[in-house]
Order: sequence, then C-alpha cells, then structure tokens
Amino acid sequence: MKLDITLFGALPFRRISKTAKRQRRTHLKKTAPTVTTCSNCGAVVAPHRACTKCGYYKGKEAIKVTKEEK
Ligand SMILES: [Zn+2]
Repeated sequence: MKLDITLFGALPFRRISKTAKRQRRTHLKKTAPTVTTCSNCGAVVAPHRACTKCGYYKGKEAIKVTKEEK
C-alpha cells in the first residue's frame, strides 16, 4: 500500500529539538504593564490616559467620573 502524500498538506521537514525549541522561546516572556500615578489623586493609572478614579489628565478634569464608576 502506498500513502498519498497530498493528504497531509505542508508539514515541517523535521522535528524541532528540545534545545532548539527552548532557545527560540528564551525571547518569549511576559512583561509587567507600565503604570504611572495620577498627579491629582495619586491613583495608579495607565500612562497617557485620563485617571479612572478622578478623571483628571495633565492637571485638568478631562472626563466626568460618576459615583458608580468609583
Ligand atoms: Zn486621579
């Protein structure tokens, strides 16, 4: 019996060794998110965004924060 190679589609030429796989993955890692503190209330906020606690950005009230969001 002869196997029809077209059934399998494209496959890697050979298995990637444990070492090659691990060496490739040395560049893959999670990084901690960048955070800053609000200049108005001191809460931890994402940079270049209005504060989610008080709504201030660059010393001015950029958005209104309602009671439910606090
Ligand atoms: Zn704030």
